[in-house]
Amino acid sequence: MENILVRPTELYRLPWTLPDNAISWLEPTAQCNLTCDGCYRENEKQSHKPFEEVKHELDVFQKLRKSDCISIAGGDPLLYPNILELVAEIKSRGIKPIINTNGVALTKQLLHELKKAGVFGFTFHVDSKQGRGGEWKGKSEIELNELRYHYAKMLADEGNIACSFNSTVYEDTLQYVPELVEWAQKNIDIVNTMVFIAFRHIVPQMPFDWYAYGDKVEWQKVMYHSEEERKVDILSTDMLRKVKEKFPDFHPSAYLNGTESSDSYKWMLTERIGNKDRLFGYAGSKFMELIMSTYHFFNDTYLSYAEPKMTRKGRASLLLLWPFDKGLRKAAKRYLKYVLANPFRLFKKSYLQTVLFIQPVDFKEDGTQVMCDGCPDITVHNDELVWSCRLEEPKQFGTFLRSVRRN
Ligand code: SF4
Repeated sequence: MENILVRPTELYRLPWTLPDNAISWLEPTAQCNLTCDGCYRENEKQSHKPFEEVKHELDVFQKLRKSDCISIAGGDPLLYPNILELVAEIKSRGIKPIINTNGVALTKQLLHELKKAGVFGFTFHVDSKQGRGGEWKGKSEIELNELRYHYAKMLADEGNIACSFNSTVYEDTLQYVPELVEWAQKNIDIVNTMVFIAFRHIVPQMPFDWYAYGDKVEWQKVMYHSEEERKVDILSTDMLRKVKEKFPDFHPSAYLNGTESSDSYKWMLTERIGNKDRLFGYAGSKFMELIMSTYHFFNDTYLSYAEPKMTRKGRASLLLLWPFDKGLRKAAKRYLKYVLANPFRLFKKSYLQTVLFIQPVDFKEDGTQVMCDGCPDITVHNDELVWSCRLEEPKQFGTFLRSVRRN
């Protein structure tokens, strides 16, 4: 029998588009203090953009694109000298500032100042191939949970800051994804989102030639390439399959398809409800539809990150929204049983938590590059909106490269 993990028609297609999205991506600097294996940005010293230029990029976003949040990325944005002003500037424009950092430069004092400036959330990139030094040198994905916990606790102590983690997933680390998903559940009270991003690079086994405006370019000149053959086609469904081995009920509710294919899950989003001891279930597509449409109706943009005080409303979501969503109905039944077994559990908080799988650029046989349709991580380059994952191409060659299958 055909073993189909998930069908696109079961999921809610996130309504994100180029001009109306949940997220946008801003890079005030390309300088970084780590050397991640899967990075797609050239680490440039002295690459901080003048603050006026960054403000201009915000103007471009606000002219061309509605956005609930801005991911301040890089490079590592904590190295940017005007980071506090930038956070305050984004907040003053009515947009949620989210800092995407490896966390190395984060101190309690800086966190406190960022909170005062209006930071809404953090996404910490933590995985085992970042070249971290000191006590984290050579630590495995699982051992790094201690570092993840350190950051989550820092945010929780500061109060009401959304906490997300992302990890790049490689061929040899795919096996750890279920344990990280389990760790996130054990810390569901302070971890709001877990993101897993499949590793992508240009590698020698690709049967393509690369062109910039009709001129052939050497693939080794593209910053994100590997000289060795490596696996660069891990799919969201590979991560889903792995997680289902540990959590058989794990079920996504929403997705973004590929620009060339309706059944590739470029962003696959799962929303689960539970507490540190028990998972009650997984929200379904109608829940996501309700949240996105209602939020857009009132805010004129789609929801990106929710405030921690909202994600603590797992129980309220179950009790109020179960009539509208199959997944919530199932979870509500489990919750009821759980409370009936011990009524004191009624006083225990339940939480919503997001698990996201991202499958970046894929290649079709003829070389066509499949991007995320409704890409949330769009950035500004020369006053235009471009994919942040391929920014090095226009920076280096003046245009995005075309990959064409060799004869
Ligand atoms: S197209 Fe690239 S930048 Fe956009 S969401 Fe996908 S991986 Fe991220």
